[in-house]
Amino acid sequence: MKIRDILAAGKPTLSFEVFPPKTVDAYEPVERAACEIAKLKPAFMSVTYGAGGGTSRYTVDIADTIKGYGVTPLAHLTCVSSTREKVHQVLDELKSRGIENVLALRGDLPADGETPREYRYASQLIREIKESGDFCIGAACYPEGHVESANKSVDMDYLKEKVEAGCDFVTTQMFFDNSILYSYLYRIREKGITVPVIAGIMPVTNAKQISRITGMSGTYLPARFKAIVDRFGDNPAAMKQAGIAYATDQIIDLIANGVNGIHVYSMNKPDVAARIRENLSEIL
Ligand code: FAD
Repeated sequence: MKIRDILAAGKPTLSFEVFPPKTVDAYEPVERAACEIAKLKPAFMSVTYGAGGGTSRYTVDIADTIKGYGVTPLAHLTCVSSTREKVHQVLDELKSRGIENVLALRGDLPADGETPREYRYASQLIREIKESGDFCIGAACYPEGHVESANKSVDMDYLKEKVEAGCDFVTTQMFFDNSILYSYLYRIREKGITVPVIAGIMPVTNAKQISRITGMSGTYLPARFKAIVDRFGDNPAAMKQAGIAYATDQIIDLIANGVNGIHVYSMNKPDVAARIRENLSEIL
């Protein structure tokens, strides 16, 4: 099923995410985690794409496994470190497996400073996917601005370019303060971007995640969130419980305020996904 049709039903949707293994040895545990999450029957499940594309086969294979559970898969695809040939090879593979949804991304710039080869921006990839078949296309968006952007207004111009290139929905980078999302939604609609916006929620279940997250994306951490990490960061079980509760609280507030699309960065953790699902059992 196409995600745009799932979203068009206008009901709250909960989706989860898994990331593929880096090596074949790790394939089985990741596949098992994906199956456990699929059993929760989310609206869809996304499978990320390794930055260099070296693990693209795992993304497609895991997406296919998810489909086997009757859950709609969303395969991520990045382009900046790829070639046109590789991109089309992956698209052909997705088509042959009946995977209809692609999250089209640029990917992070190579750390070695090598300049992009055939693609510079996600909008180029979106145009190409659009011409390559009947895919439902999603893209990334950044309520706090992308780290490389000069400012949020410029970032929004480029988001509009991605939507005009043919994307059907956008998923946000994680955020920990819902008011950031609400003001972003206001600005996005004012800009004439009307596609559904899916809110990306990260349940932070261990203190180490925090420095990685903020280092990568510059995400704002509200005082309420910092207090939780300060108080429970040294106690893994308590941190996990508090992180799940914080994420649940964010989700309930979003749904109460009319944000129907909720995507949980569940990071191959079926227990975390299950607890969030359970916390929302009467709400969804
Ligand atoms: P773009 O939309 O191309 O934007 C990149 C930068 O270029 C932005 O600063 C933008 O403002 C600017 N820009 C865009 N168009 C133009 C233009 N025409 N001229 C000048 N500047 C322009 N990474 C992975 O490796 N694998 C994944 O599976 C993955 N999944 C993700 C899922 C989500 C929901 C999100 C939010 C991010 C994900 N990422 C993933 C990370 C993502 O690849 C990085 O954030 C990357 O740096 C930007 O990708 P993008 O598609 O947003 O790029």
